[in-house]
Amino acid sequence: MAELMLTPITENEIGARNVFNTGVSTVGKGGHDYFCGHCGRKMIHNMDLSKLETPVVYQCGGCGSYNLAPEIETTDETA
Ligand SMILES: [Zn+2]
Repeated sequence: MAELMLTPITENEIGARNVFNTGVSTVGKGGHDYFCGHCGRKMIHNMDLSKLETPVVYQCGGCGSYNLAPEIETTDETA
């Protein structure tokens, strides 16, 4: 399990994606913890967003801002 920061986006960048409001907290059945890229709040517990094939925008239940799942499969980036 890792602690991952979501990628912050603006409302204009949502496009055709579905918006998922994580509310107070969203708990999965295994995976990682994800934090809001805007306010740093822990949004999602124990879930693996990389297994979802549908592009989803995650709305923070704390600050109401929008985030994308981080692309954690890319390991050859040095940035
Ligand atoms: Zn937030």
